Amino acid sequence: MQDFWFRVSLPVMFSALIALLLWGLFSPIPALLFMVAMLLMVMAHRAWQLFRLERWLSDARIETIPEAGGIWEEAFSQLYRMVKRHNQTKQELADELRHMEQATAALPEGVAILNEVNRLEWFNPLAQQHFYLDAEHDIMQDITYLVRQPEFVEYLLESNFNDPLIMIPARHDDMVLSIKLIPYGGNKRLLISRDITQFKRIEAMRRDFVANVSHELRTPLTVVSGFVENLQDMPDLSQDSARRALQLMAEQTRRMDSLVSDLLTLSRLENEQSPMHEEAVDMNELLNEVYQDGELLSGAHHPLRMEIASKSNLLGNRDELRSAFGNLLSNAVRYTPEGGEILLRWFERGGQLVFLVQDSGIGIAAQHIPRLTERFYRVDRSRSRETGGTGLGLAIVKHIAMRHQAKLEILSEEKKGSTFSLVFPIKRVLQGASKNSEFAQMQSE
Ligand code: ADP
Repeated sequence: MQDFWFRVSLPVMFSALIALLLWGLFSPIPALLFMVAMLLMVMAHRAWQLFRLERWLSDARIETIPEAGGIWEEAFSQLYRMVKRHNQTKQELADELRHMEQATAALPEGVAILNEVNRLEWFNPLAQQHFYLDAEHDIMQDITYLVRQPEFVEYLLESNFNDPLIMIPARHDDMVLSIKLIPYGGNKRLLISRDITQFKRIEAMRRDFVANVSHELRTPLTVVSGFVENLQDMPDLSQDSARRALQLMAEQTRRMDSLVSDLLTLSRLENEQSPMHEEAVDMNELLNEVYQDGELLSGAHHPLRMEIASKSNLLGNRDELRSAFGNLLSNAVRYTPEGGEILLRWFERGGQLVFLVQDSGIGIAAQHIPRLTERFYRVDRSRSRETGGTGLGLAIVKHIAMRHQAKLEILSEEKKGSTFSLVFPIKRVLQGASKNSEFAQMQSE
């Protein structure tokens, strides 16, 4: 510090010494003039350095640091070190902030920061999607202007945020959001939004499924228990009536039996813990079995044809494949009026293998096609029931197709007929001949 004062006052002291000398040699006037001139020079030099300092500070970079001797040079370099440290801290903070932003952007939830008057200070891309926000214009906007649904505004104003708010956003009516507000840092609030559409859909499907199963079982159970009561109350019922009642009871129990068996098949297929046992399936053999089942089911009411145009076999589960092929053929038989043709084909298409069932039956209107594989979805409920359908056949086919990475393609036209194809990927194709290797073509009247 002492050194500093000495160096600052050195030019003045030096000038004063010379002024004293001039006084001694000449007179006080030249000495005073000299002193004033020297002081003005010192002031001008300092003003000039201050001006350079101010100019440099507006864009402080090492390359542009002013060159100045003595004490000014030291001041400049100290200032430079300070600016450098400050810039470094600023850069570190900006990096931290960027990392935080990247982390919150990667969150599977929407996050927005609200200030004490519900203005949006920041939000991540998912919150932007959920609330339809504009990243440029909506910062510092009041969220209640942007999301105006009354239940949301009410939730925001009330101070009890223990339970989340379940809401359908106005601009995405196919989405369900779970919203939670978390107060933090005194008077700020985190708005967390989670897309629970899928969860709600599964919940609804499960509810519908239980309701459907109960409904399906109730009808046959009511019929059977009604007849049992009748038989109990009327022991002298005629042989004919008793036989008729027993026949109807047997029909209904068969229906319950096939329903339960389809439900068990579905639950087995859905059980991810039971991995699929895979084998090389002899397709010629399998297709012949399916064909014979079809003949039995049709009872010679339909001309049934089969074309096996590929020698290739499949890598898959034989029982599952038989069930899927059987379901498709059984549908063709059940939804084709007597005399209508049914064709089974096994062929290659662009390296993939296709199992196709084509019928000339009642067909399906286009709007039903996307929903056919839903459980219990039927176009004509009574026809399905009359023919012993459970409404689960195509759901089973879809599951089996998925387990074999196959695609179920449906083409249909009302009153003209339908074509159901299962397309198996190349990786399931096993080249080579089956035991009965010649190409087969079968026909029945
Ligand atoms: P179901 O036991 O009722 O036949 P599925 O799941 O097998 O159940 O089929 C669902 C619905 O798809 C059927 O109820 C029927 O309306 C329609 N369907 C399936 N296959 C055919 C077909 N080959 N021709 C016409 N409609 C069909």
